Order: sequence, then structure tokens, then C-alpha cells
Amino acid sequence: MSDCIFCKIAAGEIPSNKVYEDETVLAFYDLAPQAPTHILLIPKTHISGASEITADNSAVVAHIFEVAAQIAAEKGFSDGFRVVTNNGASAGQSVPHLHFHLLAGREFGWPPG
Ligand code: 5GP
Ligand code: ZN
Repeated sequence: MSDCIFCKIAAGEIPSNKVYEDETVLAFYDLAPQAPTHILLIPKTHISGASEITADNSAVVAHIFEVAAQIAAEKGFSDGFRVVTNNGASAGQSVPHLHFHLLAGREFGWPPG
């Protein structure tokens, strides 16, 4: 999508602080971190949110979770991290391109606010 900020980041049109990249997935540091480590994982193809995940596009979601586990292991927080996605404005989604927040480095409460 031409006006999607995360599509532009995936295409390299907007710079990001990259953590990991392959053909289908990009991981980069969040601009406004909510934890000492706050990384966003996105599919390079546009999916507007978790509600749009289907049998046709879900392979990249599995891959994103593989990458999240790999990043957690590399950064040494395998035993304490959170992966979360917000779907829809009422859940706090502000960028309408599917993304998973990988958060680590502090205690996390439950249930989330
Ligand atoms: P959401 O609120 O949709 O769950 O998460 C969107 C996230 O994207 C927010 O945590 C916000 O800080 C981050 N964000 C928004 N624009 C940019 C950007 O241009 N670059 C980076 N690195 N993060 C962004
Ligand atoms: Zn997009």
C-alpha cells in the first residue's frame, strides 16, 4: 500500500534501525520504546492487522514467531519476553499494517491495560 508507513519501511523508503531482515520479514526497533528492548516484527507484504490473517497469508506469521524466538535467544532474553499485536483502534492499533511488538527487559503485568 503506497501510503502505509510500514510498507515504506519494508521497502527501505523510510529508514529504520533494523534488527533482522529476510525476504518476507523485517524486524526493527520501535521509535517510542515501551520496554528496554522493544522491537517490531512485520511481514513485508501488507496485511492490515491480525483480523486479516487467513490460510493464504498465515505462513509469514509463523515465520515471524520463529524470528522473534531467534532474536530473543540472540539478545539473551529467551526466558522473559512478551509478543503482542494490537488489532483495531480500540485495542490500540495505530499503524494499520500487521506488526508484533517484541518487548523485553522489564517486568510485565497481567492482564495488560
Ligand atoms: P501499534 O500502536 O499500532 O500497536 O504500534 C505501532 C508502533 O509503531 C508504535 O509502538 C510506534 O511507536 C511505532 N512506530 C510508528 N511509526 C514508526 C516509525 O516510523 N518507525 C518506527 N521504528 N516505529 C514506528
Ligand atoms: Zn503496509
